[in-house]
Parts: sequence; structure tokens; C-alpha cells
Amino acid sequence: MLSIKNLQASVDDKEILKGLNLEVKAGEVHAIMGPNGSGKSTLASVLAGKEAYEVTGGEVRLDNKDLLELSPEDRAREGLFLAFQYPVEIPGVSNINFLKTAVNEIRAYKGLAPMEAKEFLKLVKEKQKLVEFDAKLANRSLNEGFSGGEKKRNEIFQLAMLEPKLAILDETDSGLDIDALRIVANGVNHLRSENNAFIVITHYQRLLDYIVPDFVHVLYKGKIVKSGTKELALELEEKGYDWLKESVDAEE
Ligand code: ADP
Ligand code: MG
Ligand code: MG
Repeated sequence: MLSIKNLQASVDDKEILKGLNLEVKAGEVHAIMGPNGSGKSTLASVLAGKEAYEVTGGEVRLDNKDLLELSPEDRAREGLFLAFQYPVEIPGVSNINFLKTAVNEIRAYKGLAPMEAKEFLKLVKEKQKLVEFDAKLANRSLNEGFSGGEKKRNEIFQLAMLEPKLAILDETDSGLDIDALRIVANGVNHLRSENNAFIVITHYQRLLDYIVPDFVHVLYKGKIVKSGTKELALELEEKGYDWLKESVDAEE
């Protein structure tokens, strides 16, 4: 589904991603861990097509389409979804209207007519229930005045509504209390299927007790320096990153 080969990217002429490789198949959940500043959010931003990030080498294919050639909007239409580490507030745009626009944009891209109002509201109700999202929040302005946890849960609500092919969750767990964490994880687990894939970026092993990944990767200095299964996350929890950093630093 997603194939990243030797990806290199810079911000402000500073090289952040330095030859990153990653293969994600449909039905898989990949966790990306790694020390602060190693390039995890940069990877998410580059995949989403954020402007400030310049790709200087390598290739990214989503279902065999050249992702890097597409605008951020078309990437979303192709089924890429990014749950932000810091979701933005958009006063004056209601959450529901925002979602209606997004849902219908994706439908239009697939050649489908806009969803009937009744059908849309039914979907909203169903998905609100799935992610235990407060109906009052759905009717407010997008993220405006939401608590940190409410913003993160709203990202998962959006994810549930849009049913992307590939969802990237950038530290959706940070700032969540244990109940909210469980709700977010349940939402993701319900949405997991043979037809989609998830990349879960996290600092903490804790989330991976709830969202059990098929693969765990460590990103350090702009590269994936180690890959394994869920046991790798437990090992990192126990030993930290220093042992990995040392072996990578020694090679430089
Ligand atoms: P992580 O998410 O792994 O903590 P980031 O991808 O956020 O790491 O950051 C990687 C490096 O890139 C850091 O040194 C950070 O300061 C730098 N960086 C990221 N985004 C920007 C930006 N917009 N402008 C300048 N530097 C940036
Ligand atoms: Mg960080
Ligand atoms: Mg980050």
C-alpha cells in the first residue's frame, strides 16, 4: 500500500530525513518510535504534503501512485489521513460542516454524489458512538476551545468519518488520560481492516498495549535504524534508546 524508498527531506535547508525506507501493506499497523527530534513528525508532514518540507530525494508510492506528485488535497482524496500532533483550531467552521465537506470531497473524487443529509447524520451518530465522541463537541467550531484530549479524540472521530486507506497518527496518545487513551485505541481497533493500514507514531509503549502493532520501527537521525515486532517496543520501554543511539552514532 505504502512504499517509501530512500526518502530524503529538508526543512529550512536542514536535512531531517536522510534515506528512510518503509513498506506498509494493507491490513498492517506499524508503530514508529524514536527519540525527540529524530524526524517522526517530519515524516508525517512530508507524507501529508505540508509546504515547509522539501523532498530532496527518494520516492513514495501509495497504491502504486507517486504520492509526492500529488497536492495535499489529492493525497487526502486518495485516502491518506494525518491525525496531527497539535490539531489546529478553526473558529467559525463547525466540526460537522467541516466533515460534511471532507466526506463529500472524497465522494466526488470517486465519482459519487454528495451524501444525503439524512444518511450523513446517521453516519455521524454511528461514528460518534464508535469513538464515544460527545455530540455537543461535534456541533461546535472545529477544535475551538477543545481541551488537548478532546482535540485528539476529534482527530479519531474525523478518522472514523473519513475511513482513509492509510492513517497516520502522530502522537495521538500524548496528553490523553488512560480512559481517553483506551477510547482512542478502541476506535482505531474497530476501524482496522484488511483494506486499510495505520502508522502510529508514539513515544510511549503504553499505547501499543491497546493498539497492538504488527511492526515497530525506531526512527533516529532521519532513518529507520531498527525494525521488529511488538516486543521491540517492550525492549525500548525497558532499555531506552541509548543502546541504539550508541551503535548508530558509532557508525558515523
Ligand atoms: P520528532 O517528531 O521525531 O520529535 P520532528 O520531525 O518534529 O521530530 O523534528 C525533527 C527535526 O526537524 C528537529 O530538529 C526539528 O527542530 C526540525 N524541524 C521540524 N520541523 C521544522 C520546521 N518547520 N522548521 C525548522 N525545523 C524543523
Ligand atoms: Mg517530538
Ligand atoms: Mg513529533
